[in-house]
Amino acid sequence: MRPEILFPLFTPATALPGVGPRIAKTIERLAGDRVVDLVWHLPSGIIDRRFAPKVADAPTGVIATITLRVERHQPPPNPRLPYKVRCADETGRLVLVFFHAHADYLRRALPEGETVVVSGRVEHFGREIQMSHPDHIGTVEELSRLQAVEPVYPLTAGLTPKTLAKAVTGALAETPDLDEWNEPAFLARQGWPGWRAALQQAHQPQSESDLDPLSPARARLAYDELLANQLGLALMRRSMRRLPGRKIRGDGRLRRRVLEALPFQLTESQKTSAKEIAADMASDGRMLRLVQGDVGSGKTVVAVLSMLAAVEAGCQAALMAPTELLARQHLATVAPLANEAGIPIALLTGREKGAARRAVLEGLADGQIPLVVGTHALFQEGVEFRDLALAVIDEQHRFGVHQRLTLAAKGRGVDVLVMTATPIPRTLMLTSYGDMDVSRLLEKPAGRRPVDTRVLPSARLDDVVAAVRRSLDDKAKVYWVCPLVEESESLDVAAAEDRHAELAATLGADRVGLVHGRMKGADKDAAMRRFAEGPPSVLVATTVIEVGVDVPDATVMVIEHAERFGLAQLHQLRGRIGRGDKPSTCLLLYQPPLGDTGRARLNILRETDDGFRIAEEDLRLRGAGELLGTRQSGLPEFRVADLAVHGELLAAARDDAMLVLERDAELTTPRGQALRTLLYLFERDAAVRLLRAG
Ligand code: ADP
Ligand code: MG
Repeated sequence: MRPEILFPLFTPATALPGVGPRIAKTIERLAGDRVVDLVWHLPSGIIDRRFAPKVADAPTGVIATITLRVERHQPPPNPRLPYKVRCADETGRLVLVFFHAHADYLRRALPEGETVVVSGRVEHFGREIQMSHPDHIGTVEELSRLQAVEPVYPLTAGLTPKTLAKAVTGALAETPDLDEWNEPAFLARQGWPGWRAALQQAHQPQSESDLDPLSPARARLAYDELLANQLGLALMRRSMRRLPGRKIRGDGRLRRRVLEALPFQLTESQKTSAKEIAADMASDGRMLRLVQGDVGSGKTVVAVLSMLAAVEAGCQAALMAPTELLARQHLATVAPLANEAGIPIALLTGREKGAARRAVLEGLADGQIPLVVGTHALFQEGVEFRDLALAVIDEQHRFGVHQRLTLAAKGRGVDVLVMTATPIPRTLMLTSYGDMDVSRLLEKPAGRRPVDTRVLPSARLDDVVAAVRRSLDDKAKVYWVCPLVEESESLDVAAAEDRHAELAATLGADRVGLVHGRMKGADKDAAMRRFAEGPPSVLVATTVIEVGVDVPDATVMVIEHAERFGLAQLHQLRGRIGRGDKPSTCLLLYQPPLGDTGRARLNILRETDDGFRIAEEDLRLRGAGELLGTRQSGLPEFRVADLAVHGELLAAARDDAMLVLERDAELTTPRGQALRTLLYLFERDAAVRLLRAG
């Protein structure tokens, strides 16, 4: 249970001064609907109001806080003209200008004959010095309060800076003093303030340098978040390992048969990975291992060998793919190998219905079917295994930590193997897979040729079409990938349909196919099959082809609006070609103008085929938030930490988390108790539940 001391933070934002239901809606859109969400909503800039010149010394365009005598109100002769208030100090005159003014209010705030303080932007119009709509009007006593550095917060429509600032101030007033969870010596070495002080400082930047994510206050808050992340993952990992696992040790007979039947030798990485997996399975702990390898690095073979190890031991194994198309594709690769080993295999997705489905369910329940490939339908209720020992999840960054836990929580003592083709940078690996062991497929199978990648402006579309026509005549198969339009699938589809119609008109209707996410499963499969098995043709596609589709003789890929894709995604797409022995070409079309970053990004793809390097560069150029589209990637979203700059802190947080659990396994010491609060603060309640009560 969340400790009481945090209750004020996890209260709806409507509890704050000035936040009614309507304002709360806008705040929710911006930051979240609770007090704590505003606490994490840090300023993105500052306004410096410390400059307090005399009127004659106030330069135009600059924010100034000026003490003035109000001389005369001058209401407008007609409502379209501004209301003016003439003021002066001993050096000159300044006119305050208000459009759509409330005269009553102005008379009260700026009484004639009184001395006031105003703060705002000074403008010179000919001889006249003006300030229109001062941000602040106050009394002389308030001068020192007004003469401050003000934080500027990211805003959203319907929310004024003042309202938001007031709400944030209210939220900060609600923050409790919490016992320190960091080692005092570590804090001292870093020169970091305590938690509450860090928050106050982060919200009251005094200079541009205080906005730096590596400034002491912000670095400390980021570190806290990363520590919570790493501690949470370490606890998950430990509890997974504590679950009783089983020793699954096959005799190798099925694996040998498959290896003999393969037309190639395993790469060294494949051999190592298969060994690591077999050792995990044979140990009595539970396996939780990630196989990370670029597209085409041969993960499937590794998965199949592991699944057969389970079958050799008399158990069952399942392979789960994120989409139906991929599940079918996997079946197509795995089934021949299973046949080689003489082992029955079935497919189970949402589309298997009626008698066929019942037959599969029965076969899984009584063990007649030892191997199954499917979608998440595999892990729904009503699916019983006689003895499932291994679940392989082809993640393709569609599932997250949460799903892995759900699966583990099925309580079958199942070993879990996750495969990912996303070349996640090392820094990100730690935040999302810190709870897993990792095997990496580093080298590509022999015989792969690098793809010749070119970057062209979209104005050269006609040349591209002509080149595609020539390559069709040379018997090439061509992927034509259509742009991502915002997040809207229906717009993607419309763009793809238009392009399909145009290419069909120029190249011949029988030579151009179409596949997109809105098509029915069977139609999609049919379109893919025609492309895979048929004569040379163009397949116009939305990004549905990104995941896993295998047409080894496709050699050309055109990607429109390449600038809109993530680098990792472009790399994945490009991985669809260059799989056979013929040279391949990838044409990246962009819509000018392309900024420096945009150009740099596309150039990286031209320079290298190393998915890890591409991912690191993408992280550097764009930041983690944008990297994969955090939501769909299953990567954690951080409130304060930014992995593009806080990567080193992450490594420190990981070491710290491990050390803490070594010394204080159940977090019962005073520091341990404080760390429990930290976990709740960053909403890792599930991780705390894994601890013994303390
Ligand atoms: P991934 O799933 O990692 O993208 P796959 O497992 O689908 O890659 O393998 C891609 C292709 O490479 C498949 O056609 C597979 O048969 C082939 N392959 C796998 N391992 C090797 C190897 N060691 N040597 C040659 N070809 C291989
Ligand atoms: Mg594959």
